[in-house]
Amino acid sequence: MSELAYPYEAPASQALFDRAAAVTPGGVNSPVRAFGAVGGTPRFMVSGSGPYLTDADGREYVDLVCSWGPMILGHAHPEVIAAVQEAVARGTSFGTPAEGEVALAEAMVERVAPLEEVRLVSSGTEATMSAIRLARGFTRRTKVIKFAGCYHGHVDSLLAAAGSGVATFALPDTPGVTGAQASDTIVLPYNDLEAVHAAFAAHLGEIACVITEASPGNMGVVPPLPGFNQGLKDACAANGALFVSDEVMTGFRTSRAGWYGVEGVVPDLMTFGKVMGGGFPAAAFGGRADVMAHLAPAGPVYQAGTLSGNPVATAAGLAQLRLLDDAAYEKVNAVSARIQGLVTEALTKEGVAHTVQTASNMFSVFFTDRPVHRYEDAKAQDSFRFTAFFHSLLSNGVYLPPSSFESWFVSTAHDDRAVDRIADALPAAARAAAEATA
Ligand SMILES: *Cc1c(COP(=O)(O)O)cnc(C)c1O
Repeated sequence: MSELAYPYEAPASQALFDRAAAVTPGGVNSPVRAFGAVGGTPRFMVSGSGPYLTDADGREYVDLVCSWGPMILGHAHPEVIAAVQEAVARGTSFGTPAEGEVALAEAMVERVAPLEEVRLVSSGTEATMSAIRLARGFTRRTKVIKFAGCYHGHVDSLLAAAGSGVATFALPDTPGVTGAQASDTIVLPYNDLEAVHAAFAAHLGEIACVITEASPGNMGVVPPLPGFNQGLKDACAANGALFVSDEVMTGFRTSRAGWYGVEGVVPDLMTFGKVMGGGFPAAAFGGRADVMAHLAPAGPVYQAGTLSGNPVATAAGLAQLRLLDDAAYEKVNAVSARIQGLVTEALTKEGVAHTVQTASNMFSVFFTDRPVHRYEDAKAQDSFRFTAFFHSLLSNGVYLPPSSFESWFVSTAHDDRAVDRIADALPAAARAAAEATA
């Protein structure tokens, strides 16, 4: 076992982590869960209820991760659980079409105007991978433009200068992705339209699509500057390429119609995951009907999945979407704004340089006093202050994303009691951040 940077504050979690490490690489099934960026014992959770998680040591935390976004109604929402129980009692997978997947697709298409047709898959990674394949098949071109710090899942060709876990672990790239795969990917600085125009000019007739997070949340929250997404759309249209908006994180979270509902820029293709699955593995890609018509079995571009449109996952997703009305978004936005205000107040009081950035109810705190417009800016923050801030909050019962390159997430279940607990924990965390040294 390696040296622990933090004392054993969670013996039951530590015992589980030791067991996990014996049978699973690094003891986790998704890298950021290992606390690699902040050190200490990853908390093994045993239950969630509303805004709270309870770990194996019996400690309760206010959850500001919300499963990285999906739990926008809080944990174990009674109506979502009832829909799941009802579905699961009828069988867990048929390998045939079923009504639930139609109903979920209809609910998505009804909310998001540019989404004319949709194909369900099981993860955000699968959604972006399939959208890229479809864009290439449709345009008969090979190259893809992506932006540094944007994460689109662990798709081989998109694991170049990706955010999220890749940002956390500062891997410039990853072994196992071939030169050929990487060479078809053009990585540009985010929020830089000049670079996009230059890339189109340098690769005339070669670019199949531009993929971007609708509003990035995987290098911390870095919203598009005014006109950036429209500029991407226009550059794609002028060059015969498709504009792919990755709404896996923002979809059905930043508004009823996701980031599209906030900004109104019309993509050719979109990808979804997280909220639409209600905590189950459900994701999707879709968009223009004439492009989607190229997908098997209607068209020649192959794509499939044994568990795609799974009846339990679609029941959970549909139940969650039905509960997400305008009032729900108002509630999430309001509680997000309150927490942002409390964080700003606490850090300002201790004189800690910081910038809170928001994309509707998604937000994150950068430990720098400069605005963050691209990945390079995000990397320039004092991450060591985040580590101290994180551990102080954790020990006082507030569960933040264990990395300074991630969005924080709240839910409709974050009530006054939960907010008060965050408010009580913040002064000590701000002091710890102020006192931290590199
Ligand atoms: C989470 C995420 C993905 C990947 O989704 P998985 O379900 O983890 O494969 C893709 N794109 C964005 C923007 C994401 O936030």
